Amino acid sequence: MVEACRHDVNSCGSALASAREPFIILTHSSCGIPLAGTARKGPARKGKNVLDFLGDLRRTHMCGALRPADAGQKAVLMGWVNRRRDLGSIIFVDLRDRTGVTQVVFSLELNAEVHDKAEELRNEYVIAAIGTVKKRDADTINPNIPTGEVELVADELRILNVSKQLPFLPSDAVLANEEMRLKYRYIDLRRDPMQFNIELRHKVSLAIRDYLSSQGFFEIETPFMTRSTPEGARDYLVPSRVQPGTFYALPQSPQLFKQILMISGFDKYFQIVRCFRDEDLRADRQPEFTQIDLEISYPQPERVWETVEGFLQAAFKAAGLEIQPNFPRMDYDDAIRQYGIDKPDLRLPALTEVRDCFAPADLEALAISKDLPVLAIRTPGVGELSRKERDDIKPLFISKGGARVFEDFKRIANKHPEAAEKITRKANVAPGDLIVLVVGSAQSGKDDHPAGKRKVTPAELAIYASAGLLRVALAQKYAGRHGIFKKTGDPAKDYRFLWVTNFPMFEYDEADRRWVAAHHPFTSPHEEDMDKLETDPAMVRALAYDVVLNGTELGSGSIRIHRQDIQRKIFHALGMTEEEARTRFGFFLEALEYGTPPHGGIALGLDRIVMILAGAESLREVIPFPKTAAAKDLMVEAPTPVAEGQLRELGIGVVVKR
Ligand code: ASP
Repeated sequence: MVEACRHDVNSCGSALASAREPFIILTHSSCGIPLAGTARKGPARKGKNVLDFLGDLRRTHMCGALRPADAGQKAVLMGWVNRRRDLGSIIFVDLRDRTGVTQVVFSLELNAEVHDKAEELRNEYVIAAIGTVKKRDADTINPNIPTGEVELVADELRILNVSKQLPFLPSDAVLANEEMRLKYRYIDLRRDPMQFNIELRHKVSLAIRDYLSSQGFFEIETPFMTRSTPEGARDYLVPSRVQPGTFYALPQSPQLFKQILMISGFDKYFQIVRCFRDEDLRADRQPEFTQIDLEISYPQPERVWETVEGFLQAAFKAAGLEIQPNFPRMDYDDAIRQYGIDKPDLRLPALTEVRDCFAPADLEALAISKDLPVLAIRTPGVGELSRKERDDIKPLFISKGGARVFEDFKRIANKHPEAAEKITRKANVAPGDLIVLVVGSAQSGKDDHPAGKRKVTPAELAIYASAGLLRVALAQKYAGRHGIFKKTGDPAKDYRFLWVTNFPMFEYDEADRRWVAAHHPFTSPHEEDMDKLETDPAMVRALAYDVVLNGTELGSGSIRIHRQDIQRKIFHALGMTEEEARTRFGFFLEALEYGTPPHGGIALGLDRIVMILAGAESLREVIPFPKTAAAKDLMVEAPTPVAEGQLRELGIGVVVKR
């Protein structure tokens, strides 16, 4: 951080410079920090730090703009010294701004004074170069950059600012470690890939805004200082000074406000909005993240899906990709049975149910449950695995509900050749494909779970889920061998979208032995399932949907409850008393009573979409100022303790656990 020297500026000379005149930077001898100094006209003095004013000098071109057609023209470029090569009588400077780099030439022969001054340039100095555009000689053309056929021959140089020695350079080929990058984020953001990502983010947001606005959506802001919303993560709290002991919560989403906006007659709302959730972080989570949030009046789910497909098409187009609308749709139950997960990556082969390939005696010999799924995971093109490689599969397996894994298919083939033969055929196994089986244990008990009547029972779900996770883990481990995740250049193959629908309305919380809302408590049950709300909650489907891309959940939404009577039944099914519901959402329940139209919506993660479009590995690559996995901002050093007085004013005492 640049901080003013505490010493008296006036003791070092008075700053009388007029805007046009260059002036010498006086540095205080004890702290070395530049001070505004005495104005001085005339040529730069060798060995001195000389800074010039911008004055009324105007830039004529950005650094990525000049082309051979501009040869002969005068140009004024401004930017950072990306690289300087001093060949003695000629100094080359690659001048950089966000649009690119132009080579600037300072020649001793042509202009000794300017050449002299250019000797003082160092990495990341900020300069203005004024000169004439010249076509480069054929043998010095740089085909790697768009401005590579020209250079700017400088006849004037203004040094607008100096730079301390940097912890890393924006032009470094090897990336600094992430901690350094985040601490010096302003330097990191100067790097090409980061400039690209942030520009992409801008274009994507703009395309989404334009599209939604063209469809009659209004962008409406909702408060950040509000009260707890129903997403169910931990809240970030903001203490109130004027009402000591009370707190605002930062919104986990604008859920209730957007529903209120439908009650208020805005018909179609959207917002590209920050949401705050205090959750344990992973690579694809941030404590504050951005959602594309929308709500529509009188919708069927299909209306919401059309809208999302439309804005995703616009967003992808902004990144140069043509995607087709009408994403495939899949019931939650089918997603589980085919992929073992509710966000299937359609680029990879589905699971194959192979129980019928085994004779009952085989199942018994292998201690495999006769009632639970027997699932083959096929990972294409892995090739022969060594014993050690097969052993490495085991740690990837997360067993749920007693699920077991058979990672050595050859052993099954040796002992049960007929079954293996059938499995090979049923799962379309080609030479080089890896086959791993996930099964239930023979001793798995009967399913007397409250959700036992579901199409996919909890005991089955455990086996599917174990297989689903292993399927993805294997595909990731062997990505280098099967190459399925590599971009082909065909968006229809590279970006496999999917709507997953008809989720169960409730999940059973084993610890608390009660039903909880699978989405949030304002999600509408399926119209056909309303009568089961009280009698058979396990079988109630929600009018909820997720949009999935390549195994990532991009967003989720639902048709909402707009009727008081149904809302009451839902709270009842969730074991929430009228009293509790009123305390948490009273204002909203009251609003529902004043003529609420049917409505529904969705929210998609903007950060994730941009991350995928940028081909980035982490959300931090596409968020200008992200937090670390420990929820810290390393640049501003937040969070921090605050002054005792500030706490007193808020009526807060801090208890530090040791
Ligand atoms: N508010 C929900 C969420 O953030 C999305 C929605 O239902 O519209 O997950």
